[in-house]
Amino acid sequence: QAKQGGRGRHALFAATMDEALSERSRLLADLRRAVVSDELVLHYQPRVDARDGCMRSAEALVRWQHPELGLLSPARFIALAEESDLIEAIGIWVMREACAQMARWQRQGLVLERVSVNVSPRQLVSGRLVGEVDRALADHGVAPDRLELEVTESLLVGDAKQACEQLEAVRRRGVLIALDDFGTGYSSLSTLRQLPVDVMKVDRAFVKDLGQDDSALAVTRTILTLARSLGKHTVAEGMETAEQADLLRELGCDEMQGFFFSRPLTPAQFEALPQFAGAALASIG
Ligand code: C2E
Ligand code: MG
Ligand code: MG
Ligand code: MG
Repeated sequence: QAKQGGRGRHALFAATMDEALSERSRLLADLRRAVVSDELVLHYQPRVDARDGCMRSAEALVRWQHPELGLLSPARFIALAEESDLIEAIGIWVMREACAQMARWQRQGLVLERVSVNVSPRQLVSGRLVGEVDRALADHGVAPDRLELEVTESLLVGDAKQACEQLEAVRRRGVLIALDDFGTGYSSLSTLRQLPVDVMKVDRAFVKDLGQDDSALAVTRTILTLARSLGKHTVAEGMETAEQADLLRELGCDEMQGFFFSRPLTPAQFEALPQFAGAALASIG
């Protein structure tokens, strides 16, 4: 009796595992198709200058318009893509689409100084990144200093030397490199000091407790001081309240990005931002 129950549970567990696995493989197959059949889209989240409140740049964030499941956030598919070879194709698509969008906006008289795109550590091991960056910029006539690549400390887990060489090569062209999710990784200070980056993005993990928790304030201040003393441009992400934005401004953060200013927007929503339209007027007049 007991034995039978055990088998039953095992069978049930196995069935659930099977389901999870087949759902995963289905999603992976769908994703493979998504890349070629134009189901990926980019949303753009404004990054605001902390001193004058002007929008200087935006982060491009990928979404997947799945034919049956609707609009999927990167949390649903980026890890899956990273476990397969698909992240490379997605990464290239994202970079090319962001450059194409910059060029379209420019033609419409809408000027955004810079766009940032997220780059997965796997894109840094193939050795193809530099060529793809060159091609994306050249094909769309975008100047290198208008593109920023966001990388995380996890690039140091694999072949760190190869990854840093790739970043150095991209950087020599004038493309900016940002360290994303800064403060959540495990790099030593001496490693951080050597990373070829221009920008440090303070993770939301610190920002979200600002105004509630004194230790969050102390840690955020320390992170910003460290970044500044290394000569880096600083961006804080995830401020949702006016108080958090005020505190970050007081702490001397250079740029801010968070729901308090704007959620990530579709290109059409982005174009309707009064700030963006203002930039267009200025460039025409
Ligand atoms: P990330 O690069 O750190 O991007 C910031 C994430 O924080 C975005 O989530 C953004 O919507 C969210 N965020 C911004 N401000 C706030 C706020 O005030 N409150 C809250 N609660 N969240 C805020 P999203 O778009 O879901 O992206 C999640 C992650 O997926 C990104 O984190 C990035 O690691 C990854 N990702 C997104 N697009 C790409 C891509 O094109 N390529 C790769 N490799 N990864 C991407
Ligand atoms: Mg990012
Ligand atoms: Mg981030
Ligand atoms: Mg993050």
